[in-house]
Amino acid sequence: MKILVVNCGSSSLKYQLIDMSTETLIAKGLCERIGVDGHFEGTTPDGRKTENDNLLPNHKIAFMEVKKALTEGETKVIDSLDEIDAIGHRIVQGGALFNDSVLVTDEVKKGIEELIDLAPLHNEAHLQGINACQEVFGKEKPEVVVFDNAFHSTMPPKAFIFPVPYEYYEKYKVRRYGFHGTSHRYVAHRLAEILGESLVGKKVIVAHIGNGSSLSAIKDGKVIDTTMGLTPLDGFIMGSRCGGVDPSAITYIQAKEDLSPAETDQMMNKKSGLLGISGVSSDLRDVEDAAANGNERAKLALDLLYYQLTKYIGGFIAALGGLDALCFTAGIGENSASTRLQVCKNLEYIGVKIDEDKNNCSGKEVEISTPDSKIKVFVIPTNEELMIARDTKEIVENL
Ligand code: ADP
Repeated sequence: MKILVVNCGSSSLKYQLIDMSTETLIAKGLCERIGVDGHFEGTTPDGRKTENDNLLPNHKIAFMEVKKALTEGETKVIDSLDEIDAIGHRIVQGGALFNDSVLVTDEVKKGIEELIDLAPLHNEAHLQGINACQEVFGKEKPEVVVFDNAFHSTMPPKAFIFPVPYEYYEKYKVRRYGFHGTSHRYVAHRLAEILGESLVGKKVIVAHIGNGSSLSAIKDGKVIDTTMGLTPLDGFIMGSRCGGVDPSAITYIQAKEDLSPAETDQMMNKKSGLLGISGVSSDLRDVEDAAANGNERAKLALDLLYYQLTKYIGGFIAALGGLDALCFTAGIGENSASTRLQVCKNLEYIGVKIDEDKNNCSGKEVEISTPDSKIKVFVIPTNEELMIARDTKEIVENL
């Protein structure tokens, strides 16, 4: 079975074609600047590549470009779209409406539309992607939607209710939903496979640290808390996002700088975090390099990252009532040995011990704790696309 996994943003479309008999990648690519002008790049694992600047006025034309790359020319991997059995879509906001992946129906599309208000930038683009797929692949091709926050739907109210007037929860569904759920779920499943046992009875923290970052506290295989909230802004310091800040500090800055709500959003999402503190970059590698060259603000940004990570992990250890395993994933979690080392050193007090040689790894699945560490620590590279493809396969096979 071949499954096309797609992630449609308002001006972008990322795809991966996956062979589910071996769970291997067949081809992948990216359409950018949709609705602006257009750029396309497609690659295959054996090193073939195609690239062009054809105009991409909408998602339908972008999917036509994907079709061309998959079925013609240098990067051809299939004869026709008939060889693709189903399509799996990543959807950012499932609200409280969807707590599992589902087959796309008119009713499901209506549900995603109702949630546009909660994730205006994302859900609208996802819907455009679903509709464009139906036009290009035909209405009979099964499409499945996999929600970013579904894995977090097991959180109890004490974790997801914000202490603002309750009427805003009732009227506007303002609450913590969490994000990166597909990544947290993939890593949790992989951890169970590595341990060779189910996560029932286990207390686990998954640290997804990338440009956007979130932690999840997982008890008995179910999320009991996560750091991101109504939007992917809450939690600890990220590349260019501020994470949790005294809310009054934000309204104070807003008033002093005469910022509109949209400008305030921009400030919190695009100008804060590692970038805002260091003044260097939102990319950790640049910040690490600047700190190594003596840049004091870059050093401060790193201090904040290590400190806030430690503090939030500590909070989740308390929420879980202990910890059996800590898993690092995503760009920073998988690749930055120094971030893992600093955080694990800070956790020595609860019995975390890591082997520094094993920790000197990048992008590989490794147990980095020592045999006598009270808590097992792993690096587990995430694979959200595979998780989406697995869900899609399961749903389509049971049709
Ligand atoms: P996104 O949230 O956009 O998916 P990623 O998960 O790809 O982001 O993570 C991007 C982050 O990972 C960047 O801050 C980047 O600097 C960091 N990163 C990637 N490779 C390394 C590395 N070798 N060392 C340190 N940081 C790295």
